[in-house]
Order: sequence, then structure tokens, then C-alpha cells
Amino acid sequence: MTVNQDDMLEFHWLMDMLETVEVGLIVLDSEFRVHVWNGFMENHSGVTASRIKERDLFAFFPDLPETWLRRKVKSVRMLKTRAFTTWEQRPYLFHFRNTRPITGTAPYMYQNLTISPLTSTDGEVRMVCLMVYDVTDVAAGNMALEQANEQLLRLSETDRLTGLLNRGTWENLLKADYERCRRYGSDSVLVMFDIDHFKAVNDTHGHVAGDDVIRRTSEVLLSNLRHADLAGRYGGEEFAIVLPETTVSGAVAMCERIRKVIAATPVDTGTAQINYTISLGVAPMSKDIETPTQWIERADAALYQAKEGGRNQTCVTDVPSRAQ
Ligand code: GH3
Ligand code: MG
Ligand code: MG
Repeated sequence: MTVNQDDMLEFHWLMDMLETVEVGLIVLDSEFRVHVWNGFMENHSGVTASRIKERDLFAFFPDLPETWLRRKVKSVRMLKTRAFTTWEQRPYLFHFRNTRPITGTAPYMYQNLTISPLTSTDGEVRMVCLMVYDVTDVAAGNMALEQANEQLLRLSETDRLTGLLNRGTWENLLKADYERCRRYGSDSVLVMFDIDHFKAVNDTHGHVAGDDVIRRTSEVLLSNLRHADLAGRYGGEEFAIVLPETTVSGAVAMCERIRKVIAATPVDTGTAQINYTISLGVAPMSKDIETPTQWIERADAALYQAKEGGRNQTCVTDVPSRAQ
């Protein structure tokens, strides 16, 4: 067979393209010895083709997922079909530094991988080709989008001033807890509380100082809750908490702790020290409560009693329980 000059030239171009293409190309034999290692692989791994040719891939890259790759390659050989892996399944095969200027924040190069069988003229698959694609831009973009979506979700569920659950979210969780209590007979307690004479705080110190008081109240509330408790901002200066798996006495103890801390610590707005108090209503879940709204009404009635009883106190549905 004679090779004319045109064929040689074409072969030269093809080789040049394989060398410079922005995809990693590796040809491996059945012993995982390297036969092709293109420019992309040289540039990103720092290992030259002349060093790695005819050598065992795993000896050069001991961090490769050897068992996994052997299994993949074996099935490509047997089935004589291509196999694909995306960065979402496995972020990378080769741990390369991320060299993209725009997505420089990604810790490493994200890669998609294709493994192709290379069939010889006799129909046998003796070699396989690994194609390594740099998909850092796509991966970084996707992850940034996911993060933004999560943040958006968080913002839509929470109240801006306090970071507590907003009313809609809190009400949904209350409904879920109500259903749980109905089904399993669990003990949950609902607490509603309201800042006393808050209009006077606004009138005397202004709305900005009023906002400081609301924020401080939510901080005290949060620092006294357990992980499973659900605290929301129900209205302007009204707060609501679901305390799952809690007894009435446990709930009252928590309410009194919060009430005392608030009454004892004035809010420093920078220009004034504002002393204020809160009133709290406690309603344990019980069989005769037929809807989540009724549960709220009970807690609200207890809160009304606390206001009527002189404020700065905790009332349990019908039973006032003022602690000193
Ligand atoms: P009471 O002891 O009976 O609760 O008296 P109160 O003055 O607190 O009465 P009420 O609960 O009716 O007043 C709530 C006030 O809270 C009215 C409203 O102007 C104010 N307010 C509601 N939301 C906000 C807010 O986000 N920031 C500020 N600064 N004020 C708010
Ligand atoms: Mg009030
Ligand atoms: Mg109010």
C-alpha cells in the first residue's frame, strides 16, 4: 500500500486537531496502558505524552477511582457501546485545577466523561478512548442558580425584619403539626404573644426604634427555642410559636423565661433605652379543637386574658399562670 502525499497531509492535520482540541483524549489498551495522551491532558495534568505512553494510567494517577473506571471500561468493551458520565454524577475523573478566568471560584475542573470503544478492522475492541470535557462553566452556572433559588425560597418563607417565618409559611407548618397531633395524639402547644403598649413605643421613640424592639424580641425568642419549635411573625408586633412534643408546664416555663428576659433588659436604640414587656397566651392541642384556626383562636383568647389581667404575664387558655 502506498501512501500519497495528500493522505499524509490529511493525517498530519487530523493529528494536529487531536492535539489542540479543548477535550482531553486518552486511548487505553486492555491493561490500561496509555497509547494516546493529547495536548489538553498534557497541559492540565503536567504529565507529557512521552512520559506516560505505554505506561499504566493508574501508576501515574493513583487518585483515580480505579475500581469504578475498570468496571465502566469493561462494560464498554463487552457491549461495544459508548458510556457517559456527567459532572452531576461524578464531578471529575482527573483532579485538575480550574483554569477558567470567569468561573475561577470553582475549586476544580468539573468534567463530563465519554468512554468509546475503538473497534479494529477485525471487529475486536482492543482499545478504548476516554474523552474528558471541561464543563466547569456549566457546572458553576448551575450551582450558582441553585444557590440563588435556595436563597429566594428562604427569603419568600421568612419575614424581612426579623428573619422569623412569615405568617403564610408559619400557618402552613401549624396546619401540618395540627394534622400530626390529630393522627398520632401527640402533645403540641401553641403560643401567641404580643408586645404591650407598642403604639406608645412608636409614638414616643419613632418607628425605627419600634422596629429595633421587634427585632430584639425575635432575638430573645429565637435564643430560647429548641430546634423543632416553629416561630413566626404573625402580625406587626405579634408572634406565634408551635412547640411540638411539649407539655403545658414546659411551654409556660419557656414563655416565662422569655417574658422575664424581655422585661429585665431594655433595648438600646442608640438614643434611648426602651423598657417594654410582652403578654403571652398558651393553648395546648386537645381533641375538641376541630381546626387549626380554632387552635389559634384559643391561644388568642388566652393572650386577651393576659392583656386583661394587666399585661406582662402568661395565661394558659382559661387558667392565668403568672410567675414572679
Ligand atoms: P396592647 O398592649 O394592647 O397590645 O397595645 P398596643 O399599643 O401594642 O396595641 P396594638 O397591638 O393594637 O398596636 C400595634 C401597633 O404596632 C400598631 C402599629 O402601628 C404598630 N406596628 C405594627 N407593625 C409594625 C412594624 O413593623 N414596625 C413598627 N415600628 N410598628 C409596627
Ligand atoms: Mg401590642
Ligand atoms: Mg398587636
